[in-house]
Amino acid sequence: MFPDLQAMLADLKTLVGIESPSSDPLAVAQVMDVVEGWARDLGAETHALPGGTRQFTFGDRDPGGGVLVLSHADTVWPHGTLDRMPWRQEDDRLYGPGTYDMKAGIVGLFHVLRTMRGQWPVGGVTVLLTPDEEIGSPSSRGHIEAAAGNARVVLVVEPPVADSHNLKTGRKGTGTFTLRFHGVASHAGNKPELGASAITAAAEAVLAAQALARPESGTTISVGLIQGGSAVNVIPASAQLEIDIRVATLAEAERVTQGIHALQPGDPRVRLEVLGGLNRPPFEQTPRALELFHQTQAIARELGFEIGGEFVGGGSDGNFTAPLAPTLDGLGAPGDGAHAAHEHVRLDRWPDHVRLLQRLMQEA
Ligand SMILES: [Zn+2]
Repeated sequence: MFPDLQAMLADLKTLVGIESPSSDPLAVAQVMDVVEGWARDLGAETHALPGGTRQFTFGDRDPGGGVLVLSHADTVWPHGTLDRMPWRQEDDRLYGPGTYDMKAGIVGLFHVLRTMRGQWPVGGVTVLLTPDEEIGSPSSRGHIEAAAGNARVVLVVEPPVADSHNLKTGRKGTGTFTLRFHGVASHAGNKPELGASAITAAAEAVLAAQALARPESGTTISVGLIQGGSAVNVIPASAQLEIDIRVATLAEAERVTQGIHALQPGDPRVRLEVLGGLNRPPFEQTPRALELFHQTQAIARELGFEIGGEFVGGGSDGNFTAPLAPTLDGLGAPGDGAHAAHEHVRLDRWPDHVRLLQRLMQEA
């Protein structure tokens, strides 16, 4: 019976055994080399794109648009994590760094592709395997958007919502701002009045920036990093804040961006420099994406399980494609613990989701 769970576990162990933090492109490329080998075995045309993204094409690419699948080979875990968080199976849970997010998604995808060999859907299947999703996809965004412009549907093999069968039918947009405060240094004892404190200005800005949040509209704002000063007895000349923003709509993204650019230090001698902005636009569900979700829900029901759709806070590469083509996210392996020590895949539920992906790729 499809899929062969033991064979999927063997492939997953191979990928998890190669630690691939986003910060180490050579390590990420090692994971990609393994996956590219699987793609070549299936007769794919493979391309290494500038920046490190790999593109695998199966079947005839048609200008009418085929199926685009998005996946990433990087993880949030630094080298050495496997020593603390080793590959281990406990009952129906398979633990290890990068299992759930999203090496199991890649493995499930290739087990599906193997069943489709020679019977590729109209327009073919294009798989993008990117190296930098966990840091906002700076090198792959352009490739993702270009490929989505020519796709009938976009399927993202990120994991389903934690501890559920639910897919991700919308995602918040994400952004990062860096605020640099340039004050005037002075001796804190002898000439404090000649100084202009960058830290005081930054402290004011922490509260002012976070006041732009509107949780009831889905907008959350968190100052996640703060640094400043040079010595305790010096009025600080420099300080820096890094701010994480999450928005459900583009209108909110614009409001927050304007609000942050309008911040003014109380002391006019402090100069504020604002860097950054919206990194991933919100993934707002279009009518065609809703149809695709309903089709997927019907397939799951035929396969004997129920799926829901959820709007989630975390962004993915699906945020880039949602405005361009009907996008469905969360088609990887179920489990829990993305970016957390208990990261795992649910082996009892995984085969259902692989069968779902198989049907969807044939029928979407
Ligand atoms: Zn991911």
